[in-house]
Parts: sequence; structure tokens; C-alpha cells
Amino acid sequence: MSTRVDTSLLSEIKQYGAIDIEACFNCGNCTAVCPLTGDASFPRRMIRYAQIGAKDALIGSKELWLCYYCGECSKTCPRQAEPGEFMAAARRYALAEYDFTGIAKAMFTIPWFNVLLNLLLVSFFAVFLLAFNQGTAFDKLALWEFLPEVVVQISGIVLFAIVALAMMVGIARMTRSIANAAHLPISASARGERGQAWCKAAWLTVWQQVLGHKDYREDECEEDRSKPWFLRKWFRHATIMFGFIGLFGATALDFLFKPLGAWVPLYYPARLLGTLSGVLLMYGTTLAMMIRFRKQDRYAAQSHVSDWLLLVLIWSVGFSGFLLEIAAYSRPPATWAYPLLILHVALVMDLLVMLPLSKFAHIVYRPLAIYHQKRGNVESIETIPMGAAST
Ligand code: SF4
Ligand code: SF4
Repeated sequence: MSTRVDTSLLSEIKQYGAIDIEACFNCGNCTAVCPLTGDASFPRRMIRYAQIGAKDALIGSKELWLCYYCGECSKTCPRQAEPGEFMAAARRYALAEYDFTGIAKAMFTIPWFNVLLNLLLVSFFAVFLLAFNQGTAFDKLALWEFLPEVVVQISGIVLFAIVALAMMVGIARMTRSIANAAHLPISASARGERGQAWCKAAWLTVWQQVLGHKDYREDECEEDRSKPWFLRKWFRHATIMFGFIGLFGATALDFLFKPLGAWVPLYYPARLLGTLSGVLLMYGTTLAMMIRFRKQDRYAAQSHVSDWLLLVLIWSVGFSGFLLEIAAYSRPPATWAYPLLILHVALVMDLLVMLPLSKFAHIVYRPLAIYHQKRGNVESIETIPMGAAST
């Protein structure tokens, strides 16, 4: 494989947030303290890739996505080069490279564009939805007459299909990058054994890491270990993730089993699941914002604009959803819920569009990288990094 050297790589990554990384003099402290160093060796190798311009090796590094930014490496760096922040910036850079539209790059590197695009999208979706308004009743709260539910469902499905397509292109580009950089499995094992190994890798990825947060829990940073479990980073991340899964399940249940437009009691399974999932989502995002605001933890000391925008967007979706729920059970009718419904649906649509373009994409890219890592381990396949950089 030929090695492409990109002499502007380091300065480009700095635009994504790795502002102090030039101070690195390759001592290796960060690799020594990283709790995930073992199967993989980082972050020093990733920093070397950036320093020598090995772009293909960098964006094809599974290790970028294995890092969950505990901040231990930044704490011990003798040069204050912030290697943890470098890893986050390199992930943004890789994500922008996987995005074929170039929009992700503009969003990460031009903060005002990120804000403006989100505002424009929310406004556009709100105007689009309002165009289907069927009149407003003030003697009762008739949300799905004000905005026909079928409009939300059809536009949601169309949008989801477009986003899923963009995400699949991103997945293909990421997989190709990893394959190019590390000689992905060309296993000598029989097809049946290979199938078993792949299934085992998928099982370990989903069960241990995605649902169980194994590395997150077992390799916590010192700051987190001193906190009660409900304030720790892994728990916060789990509440946000399970909140999303629950809300997705509640929406699907609602779509499949509820007669269109019908009012349902709070104990209705889909409503109950949606409410509990909303509580989890709000808890996780509120805590994440407070920690970023206080900057007490090492991993929250530096926040990129894109980190804040995504959190604010998710929080706004959750909060507006709760207000709508309160309105649905309020007497007399809470007619302020009409514009709120438009805003809520527009925010959800914006969040969906952000899936392949923002940090939100890590819900797809991180499990994929973990899967490739596990697959290499399960099959005992040697993954050969680019020879140009040592660990
Ligand atoms: S980032 Fe810091 S700890 Fe890591 S190799 Fe560079 S100087 Fe050493
Ligand atoms: S932030 Fe944590 S997991 Fe990521 S490279 Fe540094 S020490 Fe390792």
C-alpha cells in the first residue's frame, strides 16, 4: 500500500480543536497511562500520524473511536499538549472525512455556520409543517388536527431514509479507510469458522460495549471513581443512550398500535416507555451540560462548539417533549402547545439531519470501530499499522 503524506494534516486537525498538540515531543506518557492501551496502542501513535502527515493511517485508525475521552492522558502530559483533546479533534476530522457532502467539515471548523445551519433547519422544518395546518381549536387541545399526524409520519420516514442513506455512505467510507490502513481480515479460517468469529465479535460489541458500557465502566478515570455511580460518566452516557433507544421504541409502538390521533392515558405502554425514556435522556443531557459548564472534570475542561450545540439540541428535544406531555393532560386546554408541537417536531427533524454530520454519528462509528477491533482479536488477525509511525 502506498503512503500518502499530507503536509497540512496537523494544521488542519488543529482547526477541529487540537490547538495544543504541537507541544508534543513524543515521550509516550500518554500511551503508558491510557487505560485502553493493550490491544491497541494510543494516543501517541495517532499523534505521530498527524505529525508526519499520515492522513490515511489516521482516518483509518479504529483506536480513534475506542477512546472515550477520559482525560487521563491529558492530565499526565508533561507538555500540556492535551492528547485527549487531540483524540476528540481527530475524531471530528475523521468524521468530516467520512462525510461526502463536506457539510460536517464546515460545521466543525466554522462555529457560526454550525449555529446558523441548525437555526435554518429548525425554521425550515417549522414552516414546512405549518403549511399543513388544518386549523386551530381553542375549546380543546387537538394537536393532531392542528398538525395532521400522517404528515409527521410520512415526512419523518422520508427524512429517516435520506439520513440512513447518508449514514451508510459514511459507514462504507469508514470501513474502506480502516481496511486500507490496517489490512483488515483476510482470514485463513474456513468460512463457517469465520462466520462464527464475526458473530462473536458482533455479540461482544453490542452486549459488552454498547449495552454494557464495559470499557467505560472498568477503565474510569480517577475523578470519576471518586463520584457516586449516578454521577459517573459511563452512567450519564448510558442514560442518554437508553433514553434514545426507549424513545425510538415508544415511537414505533405508538405508530403500530395507537389509532391515529387518539388520546391515551399515562399508563399506556408506549406513553409510559416514552416518559421513562425521556426522563433518562433529560437526566443525562442536563448532567453533561452542567459538567461541561463547570469545567471541573479534565475531559470537560475544553468544549468544542459542536459538543455544546448537540447537547443543547438533544436537551431541547427532551424538554419540549415533556412540556407537550404536560399540555396533553392539562385542564383547561393548554393551547400554547400548538406552536410547541411544531417546534418539537422541527427540533426532532433537525436532530435526525445531524446524525451523519455531528458528534451524534459516534453512535454508529464507535460500535463499528469496536466491532472491527473485536473481529481482529477474535480471529487473531494481525492488524498492521502503517510502518511509518511507531507506537
Ligand atoms: S502528548 Fe504529551 S504525554 Fe503524549 S507523547 Fe506527547 S508529550 Fe508525551
Ligand atoms: S482520553 Fe483516555 S481513553 Fe482517550 S487516549 Fe486519553 S487516556 Fe486513552
